Amino acid sequence: MKIRNLIFFAAASLVVSCSPTEEKLMEKSKASGIEISNMNTEVKPGNDFFEYANGGWLKANPMPEEYSRYGAFEILAKKNQAQIKGMVEEISAMEEVKKGSPEQQIRDFYNAGMDTSIIEELGMSPIQEILADINNMATKDDIVAIHAKMNFNGSYPLFAVFGSQDDKNSANVIAQMIQGGLGLPDRDYYIKDDERISNIRKEYVDHITKIFVLTGDDETIAAEKANNVLAFETKLAAFSMTMLERRNPNATYNIKSMDELQNSAPGYNFEAYFKAIGISNTDVINVRQPKFMTGVAELINSTDLENIKTYFAWNILNDNAGKLNKAFVKQNFYFYSTVLSGVDKMKPRWKRMISSTNGNLGDPVGKIYVEKFFPAESKERMLALVGNLRIALKESIDNLDWMGDSTKVKAQEKLAAITVKVGYPNKWIDYTSVDIDPNKYLQNTWNCAAFSYKRNIDEIGKPVDREEWGMTPQTVNAYYSPNMNEIVFPAAILQPPFFDANADDAVNYGAIGVVIGHEMTHGFDDQGRLYDKDGNLNEWWTETDAIKFKEKTKILVEQYNAYTVLDSLHVDGELTLGENIADNGGLFIAYDALQMSYAKNGTPEPIDGLTSDQRYLIAYAQLWRQHIRPKTLMRRLQEDVHSPGDARVNQGVVNTPWFYTAFDVKEGDDRYVAPENRAQIW
Ligand SMILES: [Zn+2]
Repeated sequence: MKIRNLIFFAAASLVVSCSPTEEKLMEKSKASGIEISNMNTEVKPGNDFFEYANGGWLKANPMPEEYSRYGAFEILAKKNQAQIKGMVEEISAMEEVKKGSPEQQIRDFYNAGMDTSIIEELGMSPIQEILADINNMATKDDIVAIHAKMNFNGSYPLFAVFGSQDDKNSANVIAQMIQGGLGLPDRDYYIKDDERISNIRKEYVDHITKIFVLTGDDETIAAEKANNVLAFETKLAAFSMTMLERRNPNATYNIKSMDELQNSAPGYNFEAYFKAIGISNTDVINVRQPKFMTGVAELINSTDLENIKTYFAWNILNDNAGKLNKAFVKQNFYFYSTVLSGVDKMKPRWKRMISSTNGNLGDPVGKIYVEKFFPAESKERMLALVGNLRIALKESIDNLDWMGDSTKVKAQEKLAAITVKVGYPNKWIDYTSVDIDPNKYLQNTWNCAAFSYKRNIDEIGKPVDREEWGMTPQTVNAYYSPNMNEIVFPAAILQPPFFDANADDAVNYGAIGVVIGHEMTHGFDDQGRLYDKDGNLNEWWTETDAIKFKEKTKILVEQYNAYTVLDSLHVDGELTLGENIADNGGLFIAYDALQMSYAKNGTPEPIDGLTSDQRYLIAYAQLWRQHIRPKTLMRRLQEDVHSPGDARVNQGVVNTPWFYTAFDVKEGDDRYVAPENRAQIW
């Protein structure tokens, strides 16, 4: 479970006001930063800019078999994986490492995961105890203790409780309850009836059956259990909010005391459950989906204990199948990767174990990673670039013709208050107490889960720790947090093609510059704008301005709704609106910042035959180069708040005027949009 609601994206940069050393660096940095061979110049940019900018790369780099999508992000992640593997190998060669040190933990965690002979030999034994606990429940009063125990093993059946900032008092951490408990990716998989989804449901029942057979059940019993699990989860799905409903922070803000929660959802002893997971402060609980909790409590009340046991056992099996012996791993891969995402080949074990080490020991790995691989000067350059983007957005807000003065004042205050984090956190989470054993892979993952969960629960009722990060430094991504009002750029994103110290300004502004603008304008997208400068849900817009904003963004909803992928499927313009606003804002703001830099330093001559405007847009488009499997694309259209890479490019650039001037795009070209139908929010 992710304990922070992170907003996906990515970032990198170049500096405008330079120290003498930087000037020198820039003198020799006249490289274009664009690989011409990655383009397909046979295609008219006005017909398909994604293909024009990326066609050469797409052709020369077919998707590796073990990927569900493959592009700039995955390539950097792959590079990270190799770097981290190198780190692990160096550590493994050390003669002595101290118990509890990052070196010991990383080495033993990885090696335990790689030792398949022990894992095969152990078979199901690492999960026998918890399965027995589940099976031994005598009455429904026993559910609470087992439920809590599962949470500390990283399983969250039914719903999840965790600590995060209070949306209306962002200085404090409160308990949050969220819907959950589904084995399929989203509620729609249980409710919709089209052919693809019906088939996935059928495959899901098959999958559950096969997993229960692997535990020793006979086929008939296993199939019966599988049908019970599907029936139980279908009921949970019926109470669940849709993806779209969950994007409305006001709808998911429902503060209740324990008494109120208990009265609204009789049938489950929430008070005992909260106590069992270690929460004593229960005056303020944000029940994000109140109807769901009422439904869950009723469901527990009305379901046979035997069926609840089956559902809990399934949760343990499902969450741990990928960590058990080969038969479980294979079956788990088949359903979640092949059936759901269209990937036929598993990644080699070392790659999976590097990901697992990274996922479980994020901070210990991150600390060594940045010492080895993050150049300190990247941080300075990035901060300067963010400063330039901030100035550009400030001017843009001042010049908006649709926003009134009083809203502008508040918007400027919010912009000025955005905190910037670059590279890695100032302090690291101390993992010393986490026991990592070279022979117990699965138990190690549980120890890490218990540590993180307890740490999170302990924050409830306390002031928020502003030093904490929601992503590790080795993550190729970036985010904006509305409660913190901060933008965060982990070390791993600060490398080419996002950030290239040797490349010309146009390319860095088109790549990391747009990423920074993207994250910054998240503070003002359809969700972000609902939060004020202190990170509180608080209406700071005048009613007229809020209406005008909605009108402006409606164009984007319609544009993306009309964007076709895979023959007849469309992007969901409502679901992806926040991200599309951010892409739109990023493209405009970074361009303004680039022009400010040119005003100071002069506009460069074309490089490699490409003008600054051309390189700016190509650099942006090349970030989103990507192969994606049809099944993965279909999943993401339904579950992902981001538009697919080609839509981010093709639908992104058509709203900028420079696309038309730089590439001579005219009426009659496939992607031509008349000026009055183009969207510009910021
Ligand atoms: Zn985003």
